[in-house]
Amino acid sequence: MIEIPESKTISLQAGNTLINRRITEVVNATSPHKFAFYYGDPAGYAKLLSGRQVKSTKGHGMFVDICCDGNICLTIGEGTNMRYYSPHDQRPEKHQLMIVFDDGSCIACTVAMYGGIWVYKGIFDNPYHKLSLNSISPLEDAFDELFFDNIFNSAAKDISLKALLATGQRIPGIGNGVLQDILFNSGIHPKTKKSALSGFQKAELFHSLKVTLNKMTDMGGRDTEKDFFGCTGGYKTLLSKNTAKNPCPDCGGAIVKETYLGGAVYFCPVCQKISKK
Ligand SMILES: [Zn+2]
Repeated sequence: MIEIPESKTISLQAGNTLINRRITEVVNATSPHKFAFYYGDPAGYAKLLSGRQVKSTKGHGMFVDICCDGNICLTIGEGTNMRYYSPHDQRPEKHQLMIVFDDGSCIACTVAMYGGIWVYKGIFDNPYHKLSLNSISPLEDAFDELFFDNIFNSAAKDISLKALLATGQRIPGIGNGVLQDILFNSGIHPKTKKSALSGFQKAELFHSLKVTLNKMTDMGGRDTEKDFFGCTGGYKTLLSKNTAKNPCPDCGGAIVKETYLGGAVYFCPVCQKISKK
């Protein structure tokens, strides 16, 4: 799933690779997917995109936008994989949208479980995308402790830390993936209630949020996800499906995996005790 480190990484890679390339061909889904979501009728995408030149790319929240002249954009969302194929690579047979460029390279969008592939002119009429586009990212300096305090204070007092950080779009682009290491690095259990957090813990959480996300982004995304070139990210996740069987990186104890709020959480019961107050 695309979260902040991956949207930044993929948009940067796509920008370096595609800017000034011109689109010569658009191939609609060769393998229709029930949970691939489009904006309008994808049969019209060829008309919108053909002949357009890529002008800019932007990664924000769980979205990657590729914008062309004429104000035509392609946006993918969290569950969609967008992969680049050079002119020498064999193109994939199965995809949910393929865009070919003037040098013979292409990008193929594929959806695993569910995901959006949206092509549109002008502003994308999608509330999550608008919210994400207009929000301040934790990667920015403007996302400071005061800004975080406002987000923190606006949530209900009995909400758990996982719910606060990774649900409700309070911080677009933080999902169940990056959450695990943010909480581990701050020594906080995902089920800890907001009201039970001490001032010191809250400061630790803010610090971990900034440092962990910056590190994940600087290293080209997480090792559980693929980038624009189909490679796994350089950031080695501390707690994830990849490391679930490994001992805790701090104390060497066993990591616990539990299903909680629609997804697996991983934690060390020693290093991340539930605070009670
Ligand atoms: Zn531990």
